[in-house]
Amino acid sequence: MSRLPPFQQGFPRLLQVPELAPYAVGPHNTRGRREREAAPVGRSEFQRDRDRIIHSTAFRRLEYKTQVFVNHEGDLFRTRLTHSLEVAQIARSVARNLQLNEDLVEAISLAHDLGHTPFGHAGQDALHRCMQPHGGFEHNLQSLRVVDLLEQRYAAFDGLNLCFETREGILKHCSLKNARELGCIGERFIKRKRPSLEAQLANVADEIAYNNHDVDDGLRSGLLTVAQLAQVKLFARHMKRVLREYPELDERRMVHETVRRMISTLVIDLTRQSAKNIARAAPRTLNEVRAAPALIAFSPTIQAQQAELKRFLRLKLYQHYEVARMTSKARRIITELFTAFQADPQLLPPQDQARARTQPARAVADYIAGMTDRYAMREHRILFAVDKI
Ligand code: MG
Repeated sequence: MSRLPPFQQGFPRLLQVPELAPYAVGPHNTRGRREREAAPVGRSEFQRDRDRIIHSTAFRRLEYKTQVFVNHEGDLFRTRLTHSLEVAQIARSVARNLQLNEDLVEAISLAHDLGHTPFGHAGQDALHRCMQPHGGFEHNLQSLRVVDLLEQRYAAFDGLNLCFETREGILKHCSLKNARELGCIGERFIKRKRPSLEAQLANVADEIAYNNHDVDDGLRSGLLTVAQLAQVKLFARHMKRVLREYPELDERRMVHETVRRMISTLVIDLTRQSAKNIARAAPRTLNEVRAAPALIAFSPTIQAQQAELKRFLRLKLYQHYEVARMTSKARRIITELFTAFQADPQLLPPQDQARARTQPARAVADYIAGMTDRYAMREHRILFAVDKI
């Protein structure tokens, strides 16, 4: 075998990727793209998906969208962009260890939040309420809508024309009603089947990322205290060890070191337990993965600790009165924008007006969902502040 690097052996020739497990998603079992395209040159189909996602408009907007905090509150907090990068990092580490398709988990991780509204969950709940009479609003479905339809940058098709397995991973949840309208991508919800292991992994990596960075951001914002977190097993166990090893450590570094160890524990546990689950279920093909129960999972002990941390964050951070005040304002902004645009579609930018003629409410929801936090606030000011022209 030649030792020359691939580009000297005659392009195109793909670099050898680490060997995939037979049940991983790969070139042999992908269901491909909706629109036929020539095979990519010098990269795999899933690398191409990832690249299309990174170059999309919706991806760039993630920089100015937030999950819990509002974007202008501080430069140190996570945005959906940095969150998505953290998810991809965690998911790729585990994927490599389990011989899953690293390119696919990366693509899913980077795309999983593309459909999120401004102002995190508050924005999404408000938009869902506005859209109740028009089929509702689900952010997972919206992420799929972004990559299937709303991105308009290719000459031959709307959307990014991603592979089935990337789209399937993006559509984490979906109501049965919507699943029935989605064709083959909605099938698994109706047949109660699982998605690929890569999709399952991106989903759990999302959870690991947000629980841990919300601890970090919660402490940094002052909404959470170390004393409160010391009541949570997963945090307390690592904090005690850190303080035993480094008694003089200042609080900020102690928190970073603790969160770092928490992430490590979760990632290692997830890898080990998932490897065990896979060995026990012994799937031979991707179809057998789909028919098996969820295989990417924490051990029961860590699952319980992770659930405890989640409960803690819901009570102490997401329902904190300062977050609630922001949430209520976000709800008002989204609802008022929706009402104004729906009453008078002429207020929409010209490119959105065209779609508003056939599906007025959905066009308004797409426009609002695409906004960043600060853009939504600016639009609200432009439409409602009497002293703003
Ligand atoms: Mg997420």
